[in-house]
Amino acid sequence: MAAEPQRTLGLLSVCAPVYNEEALVEEFYARATVALAAFDYELIIVNDGSSDGTSAILDRLAEGDSRLRVVHLSRNFGHQAALTAGLEHARGEAVAMLDADLQDPPELIAQMVARWQQGADIVYMVREQREGESKFKLVTANWFYRLFRSLAQVDLEPNSGDFRLLDRRALDALLSMRERDRFLRGMTVWVGFTQSAIGYSRDARYAGETKYPVRKMLRFSLDAIASFSHVPLQLATYLGFLFSGVAFLAIPIVVALRLAGSYLPGFGSITIAVLMLGGIQLIAIGVIGEYVGRIYDEVKRRPLYIVRDQRNEPIALGEVRHGDELAPEKIPG
Ligand code: UDP
Ligand code: MG
Repeated sequence: MAAEPQRTLGLLSVCAPVYNEEALVEEFYARATVALAAFDYELIIVNDGSSDGTSAILDRLAEGDSRLRVVHLSRNFGHQAALTAGLEHARGEAVAMLDADLQDPPELIAQMVARWQQGADIVYMVREQREGESKFKLVTANWFYRLFRSLAQVDLEPNSGDFRLLDRRALDALLSMRERDRFLRGMTVWVGFTQSAIGYSRDARYAGETKYPVRKMLRFSLDAIASFSHVPLQLATYLGFLFSGVAFLAIPIVVALRLAGSYLPGFGSITIAVLMLGGIQLIAIGVIGEYVGRIYDEVKRRPLYIVRDQRNEPIALGEVRHGDELAPEKIPG
C-alpha cells in the first residue's frame, strides 16, 4: 500500500446522531473539536427528535461555531435513519460516522483518515475490547454477528459497528440504496470498494443510558437479517419438503402394519403431528408476514426522515465551500 499515491483530503465530514443526550453533547462536541482541529472539517450532529435539553444546547453551540452543522429531525426516526440524514447532508470528500456517546473515541478519526490517504475507500473500526457493556449485550451481540454471517452473504466483520469512514464514491453508492430497513454497517460492506480494518478498544458510555433497550435491539437484528437474507423464507420450503418426505415414508409402514393385522390406536401421535405441523405452518406464515410487512413499508416510499430545522446550513451554491470567501463573480445575478 505504501507505494500508492497519497490522497490529499479537502473537506472531512463527521456525522453523529444524538437522541436525548443532554448529559454529554457538550462533552462530545468539545472532544470532537479538539480531535479534528488539524483538519478542514464539518461536524454534523443530527438531533433525532430529542425531547430533553439537547436541541437547545446544540443551537447554542452552533451559534458560536460555523463548522458545527446541526440537523434537527421532526421526531425520533431511529439511529440508522438519523445517521443516514447525517450522511446525506455531508459534503466532504471523506465522511466519518460515529456515536455521540463517546464510546467511539473521536481521536481515532485521524487514524481512519490516514488509511484513507493510503488508498482505502472504506475504513471500519473493530472493537477489540468493550468497556462498560453488560455481559448480556456482549453475548447477544456475538450470537447476532454469527447468525448474520451465516444467513446473509455479506462478510461483515464481527464486532464492527457504525464507526466507519467512507470515501465520497463509496458514500454515494451507499446513499443510492434507498431501502427503509437500513443496516448501514452491512450496506457499507455490500457496496464493495477497498475495505480496511483498524482495531480499537471501545470505551464505556460517557453519561446517560443506552438508547437501545432489548426490544429495539431485537427489532434491529430482525431488520438486519431480513434485509440481507431470504434464508428464513426458504426455511419454510425446506421444512415442507422434510415433513412431506416423512409422511410418504409413513404410508408403507401403516399399510404393512394394517396387513399384519396389528391395530394402532395412534391417537397421541396423530395429535402431536397435527399440532406440530400447525405450529410450523403458523411460524412460516409469521416469517412471510415479517417480509410482507417490510415490502409494504418499502412500497409506500415514505422519506427516511424529515428535517425540521437546520443550523449553519451550507450556502446553496454548490461550488462555494466552507472557508471560501464569497467572491463577487460567484454571486448570482
Ligand atoms: N441514537 C439516536 N436515535 C435513537 C437511538 C440512539 O440518534 O433512536 C443515538 C444515540 O444518541 C447515540 C447513538 O445513537 O449517539 C448510539 O446509541 P446508544 O449509545 O444508545 O446505543 P448503544 O451504544 O448502547 O448500542
Ligand atoms: Mg452507545
